Amino acid sequence: MIRFHPSAHQLKEFVEGTQSPAISLMVSAHCDMCEKCQRFVEIETESLAAQMVSTANDSAVDAGDVAFQFGDMLSQITQLPSTNNNRSESNQPLEYRELARNIDEHEHVGCRTIELDGRTFTLPRTLHRYIDKTGNWSSLVGKLWQAPVDLGNQGVANFIFMGSGGSVPEHTHRGTEYTLVIDGEFSDGLSRYDTGDFIFMDGEKTHTPKAEGKEGCLVFSIVDQPLHFTSGLARLLNPFSHLFFR
Ligand SMILES: [Zn+2]
Repeated sequence: MIRFHPSAHQLKEFVEGTQSPAISLMVSAHCDMCEKCQRFVEIETESLAAQMVSTANDSAVDAGDVAFQFGDMLSQITQLPSTNNNRSESNQPLEYRELARNIDEHEHVGCRTIELDGRTFTLPRTLHRYIDKTGNWSSLVGKLWQAPVDLGNQGVANFIFMGSGGSVPEHTHRGTEYTLVIDGEFSDGLSRYDTGDFIFMDGEKTHTPKAEGKEGCLVFSIVDQPLHFTSGLARLLNPFSHLFFR
């Protein structure tokens, strides 16, 4: 069950388009997996659209402009995925239905999944277009595997797989770190995280992520600064810490 969500502030920034594209990518991928946040975003988007119309009316902006802005807004709404397959399609805007059909028709399984060690993981829709930008898996310490994802001018994200019992040495953060749990669960001494959880970490907190389930855990992670290991021999890893996910 999802217990960790982006903050209301982060979701609003996502709707307003004021977030950095990398963070917006994480929020969007979480919304693919989280009906609650998806609904929040829909409501915020509608209210923003209503505000735009009322502002446009007040300032008697050219009707063509309003239509244009509204079209923009609609296309934002229609890019939102739906986690609720039971929702009646006929209630959705025509554009949404067409878009969803387009995506479904043009994506075969290989465009939605990544593989590691004979296992196949289905990714949230937002991440599908990054599958062919994902590099090869490499083995890190312990039971950790990493595959870098090229985000273009937004830097690099990583898929990290922690095999069962695998853990990342204790560390703290100098910058910010966003993690989305794609499949499985892990704990870090602070909390336990499950599939779909959106985790934001910065500064002070020290933790030791560890996959405890039998199946291991796949996460998608973006850090803006290398990690800083804090204990024992792991401190020797600091010069290489940019290789690790937290
Ligand atoms: Zn959520």
